[in-house]
Amino acid sequence: MKKFLLFFLCFFSASLLLAQNNGIEEIRKVIIERGEAKILIPKNSISDIQAIANIISLDYPQGDSWLGYVNKKQYESFLKLGIKHSIYIENGTKALTMASTMAQMSNWDSYPTYSVYDSMMRRFASTYPSLCKLDTIGFSVNNKLLLCLKISTNPLIDINKPKFLYTSTIHGDEITGAVLLLRLVDWLLSNYGVNPRATNIINNTQVYINPIANPDGMYKPNNNSVSGATRYNSNYIDLNRNFPDPVMGAHPDGESYQRETLAFMAYANSNNFSISANLHGGAEVLNYPWDCYTSSSLSHPDNQWFKSICKQFIDSILSSAPSSLFKDVSSTGYTNGGDWYVVYGGRQDYQTFFNRGREVTMEISSEKSLSTSYLNNYWNYLGRGLITYLENCQKGIQGIILDSATMKPLKAKIMINSHDDNSSFIYSNSNGYYYRPIAPNSYSITYSLEGYYSKTINATINSSSILTKDIHLVKNSNSLNRVNSNSNDIAIFPNPCNDIINIVNSDKQNYSLLYSVFNSQGHKVCSGNIIMGCNLVSIDCSRFNPGLYIINIGAKSFKFIKK
Ligand SMILES: [Zn+2]
Repeated sequence: MKKFLLFFLCFFSASLLLAQNNGIEEIRKVIIERGEAKILIPKNSISDIQAIANIISLDYPQGDSWLGYVNKKQYESFLKLGIKHSIYIENGTKALTMASTMAQMSNWDSYPTYSVYDSMMRRFASTYPSLCKLDTIGFSVNNKLLLCLKISTNPLIDINKPKFLYTSTIHGDEITGAVLLLRLVDWLLSNYGVNPRATNIINNTQVYINPIANPDGMYKPNNNSVSGATRYNSNYIDLNRNFPDPVMGAHPDGESYQRETLAFMAYANSNNFSISANLHGGAEVLNYPWDCYTSSSLSHPDNQWFKSICKQFIDSILSSAPSSLFKDVSSTGYTNGGDWYVVYGGRQDYQTFFNRGREVTMEISSEKSLSTSYLNNYWNYLGRGLITYLENCQKGIQGIILDSATMKPLKAKIMINSHDDNSSFIYSNSNGYYYRPIAPNSYSITYSLEGYYSKTINATINSSSILTKDIHLVKNSNSLNRVNSNSNDIAIFPNPCNDIINIVNSDKQNYSLLYSVFNSQGHKVCSGNIIMGCNLVSIDCSRFNPGLYIINIGAKSFKFIKK
């Protein structure tokens, strides 16, 4: 009996293996053809979702399974986990009509070919030269342009107004947002001086719009089609897992920073975007920071503000959208990112943590590549939400920070007392201008810069307008002259930490600083050099015993706890 059972089990497992191997070969074949494949992993076969997320690009739960994307390397690593899975094939073929002339885009019911997209972006700038400038963020791996329109009352120069950024389609197969953003540009520019909301937005905000962040993925088959668009870029890397991460540090995906990622990081570094959103597809939900933490482990200090701006977006679309819209993930239509599922290396957390911005991930259509016949509907549903979200830049607090004697602009730190932490305080720009979006309330705010006396003010911020507070800081002649470090620019995270403590700095100058780490008995446990021009330095503290440590960086000290 035992023998028979054993034989049966062997036979049964062999046929299972055979069936699975066929599936594996099919997936490998798709990867060879497309560079990436979509797989379904039944939830009941997963014991450690994070172990999978560390290897492949997990997308969203789809019913009883998780949807994941794999390139060749990711798939071979995933197979070693021995987890049951199958290939994911979408049902039916969708109508993805292409516009091969700009005239064919006039009804907004087509996707533009790459050359039509390029021409449209140029035409916006040439038709409205006093309101619009075409910027190049950089280039994709295949040398496609990463284009961004700047819309402002004086687009050629940096004016003292908040900077806002919309981007879409960092996942090349999530293409709905690309058309909605082109249409938003058209709405803003054609309504300036006509519609009060469009006029107010342009008068009060420097708006940046990049409709296609991953053109190689979107136009994967060729420049005239989006039917075979891929999530990944042309190196088969998920760009939205490729950014420095507050928890995992540099290279959270184990890949080098892609050309698109480096271009965005440089662009975001030189433009201090205060509020931004990244448009995706595949679900309908607004996803706010953090992606790398659940809300029970760490909330952003502006958690309530994030929730309120998400609610405003949802409320603004209620009258125009079907009641089923934005209900597939959360009944409210919005969620803390990590509570949905934890992601490392996403742009939302990069922009929010490292650039001190406030970014929301907008999942705007359950279908990643929406049939063109629905594009007008989705603009009618969501256009108001996109406009309402943009208007957040007209609330909060702004001003200019100057040296009281010389009136020289200062790049100072702005800290909301009893509110901000290392991830959320901001700096003024080098022209002294600052803008801090924040929920209406009364706050104590401290402005500080090494070599100056700090200044603390009380401010009441209301829900309908922006408060302007210009600040003059008085030089402190007794303080040591700044040698070479603006240590205000330095922060450490995460704290408490596990194996890695990261040092992040906003100082763009290249110089080196010594750092030393001491344990609670005052013994030096490690030391080294930090090149300040690097955005992020990670120190391995896996061999440290749990406890309190002090890290000296230049003349500045920070305490942290090793868990
Ligand atoms: Zn996406």
